[in-house]
Amino acid sequence: QQHCVIVGAGHAAAQLCASLIQSDWDGKLTVVGDEPHAPYHRPPLSKTQLNPADNPELQWIRPAAFYTDNNIELLTGHRVTEIDRNAKTLTLDGPDTQSLSYDTLVLATGSTHRKLPIPGVDHPRVSTLQTAAQAEAVRNQVPNAKSVVIIGAGFIGLEAASSLSKLGLNVTVLEFADRVLSRVTSPPVSAFFESLHKNNGIDLRTSAQATAIEEQDGKLTVHTKAGDTFPADFVLMGVGAAPNDQLAAAADLPTDNGIHVNEFNQTADASIYAVGDCANQHHPLYDTRMRLESVQNANDQAKTAAAAIAGQPKAHTALPWFWSDQYDVKFQIVGISTGYDQCIVRGTPEPGQPFSAWYFKDKQLIAVDAINDPRAYAVAGKIIPMQGKPNQALVADASSELKAILQ
Ligand code: FAD
Repeated sequence: QQHCVIVGAGHAAAQLCASLIQSDWDGKLTVVGDEPHAPYHRPPLSKTQLNPADNPELQWIRPAAFYTDNNIELLTGHRVTEIDRNAKTLTLDGPDTQSLSYDTLVLATGSTHRKLPIPGVDHPRVSTLQTAAQAEAVRNQVPNAKSVVIIGAGFIGLEAASSLSKLGLNVTVLEFADRVLSRVTSPPVSAFFESLHKNNGIDLRTSAQATAIEEQDGKLTVHTKAGDTFPADFVLMGVGAAPNDQLAAAADLPTDNGIHVNEFNQTADASIYAVGDCANQHHPLYDTRMRLESVQNANDQAKTAAAAIAGQPKAHTALPWFWSDQYDVKFQIVGISTGYDQCIVRGTPEPGQPFSAWYFKDKQLIAVDAINDPRAYAVAGKIIPMQGKPNQALVADASSELKAILQ
């Protein structure tokens, strides 16, 4: 019987197990994860799971019975420290060091949120918000806290700002760039989110570089380059993530901002695959390599790898999409806007109003940001894969029918 070992017990691992089982592949599956849990949904950690009063529980991607019923060995609390490609074995650290052999290996190791290299960053009340344990630590601090400083106005920072301000904390957000969400969206959408947060009482500072975190008499203070100081009971960092590709690199597999994989999510070693946040793959629609951090990407790449492992290879072409929830705003992104040469805003970026930002490159629609506008998101999701060049006058006219844009 073939033995497939998956390293990392997150979104991609859970999907890979499900897809392999659905495909009637009849090998043996083992999942090794360094967190103490079976795969759980990460997105709620910053959205709905910071309120201690809710006593929130982790949301399992698959129930425990799924693993037992399908004879999947789940080795949680174990970290894989080495791959021996010649012997096809792995070294595991954890309660006891052991070795595991594989016929097929899938690296689903995710990414690790960065911490800024500034003084004070290792203080126990300064953390990132990526794991169940970190979310729990934040929850434990909330009842005794008055103020929090969040460094970084990306998705996680802004979602945490929304969640924590709803709990009555004074929230300061410090962003190095001159606008929020600058890596993922355009200036009009950034401006909308900036006023959304300010209107909800967040002290949001752009062009504000945190330079040090200091503790005095139990209180933390965050210092900025401009000389401003911000008191905090605890500090969260949301300043981006780096792929967990070290295992692959140490095994001489090509990596560069993630583990390089082909259209079947296979690495340079035919018996090793990589999926999810840790993988870097060429996307045929955008004709460029990319590494994505999203649930959709983890799931779709896992499906691609499973098909190849089961002997039914099908090249990965899935269109990227993403969502974020902040206050009562649903932000959906379809496609990748990087490199756009034109942005058309449809509708008025105002609280409570749906609007969308349409990104074009050489008149071709490459991405849409939809704010409380699921219909624009759905229509764009049909046009983008067809490399459509929709009528821009219709796109710009919010009173036009979305259906008309599709034709
Ligand atoms: P993960 O789910 O991160 O799983 C990787 C696992 O591998 C981790 O448990 C890690 O500890 C483990 N691991 C790493 N190295 C080893 C090793 N050597 N040995 C054993 N185990 C190892 N995406 C969206 O699309 N929408 C959202 O709204 C959204 N919100 C998010 C909110 C938060 C707070 C976070 C943290 C992420 C959010 N994401 C969101 C991103 C999404 O959760 C990730 O893209 C997704 O989890 C990636 O899946 P993965 O399987 O690649 O990695």
